[in-house]
Amino acid sequence: MAQLVYSSKINKIRSFALFLIFAGFLLMYGGILTKKIPWLMATFFILGILLIVFSCVVYFWIGMLSTKAIPIICPNCEKPTKMLGRVDACMHCKQTLTLDKDLEGKEFDERYNSRHYRKELREKQKNSKK
Ligand SMILES: [Zn+2]
Repeated sequence: MAQLVYSSKINKIRSFALFLIFAGFLLMYGGILTKKIPWLMATFFILGILLIVFSCVVYFWIGMLSTKAIPIICPNCEKPTKMLGRVDACMHCKQTLTLDKDLEGKEFDERYNSRHYRKELREKQKNSKK
């Protein structure tokens, strides 16, 4: 059975933002390499700047999310971590965490964060009771 490693959302977004910065710098470096072709250089630079600006927006967004995240002590590694949404993973040991008692002990599924999915589940339960 393949073990799905789930990293916490904040960490995921953070690495995405870091990737954007690297991609932006790489594009600008490409611009330097192609400075003999002005339009190509300009394209590389503009794309690079756009990516870096976008990554700043993402970092800002992480900051906003972090203020909304609930700080908890991980039951597995006993380190402080933050969780977003109803299901998330510990930042240190990847232990899956939930705030919802109904979901405790259930197989981890990122879809539990979606309101739509939960609604679907509820409808299913209702129908099976009939
Ligand atoms: Zn942990």
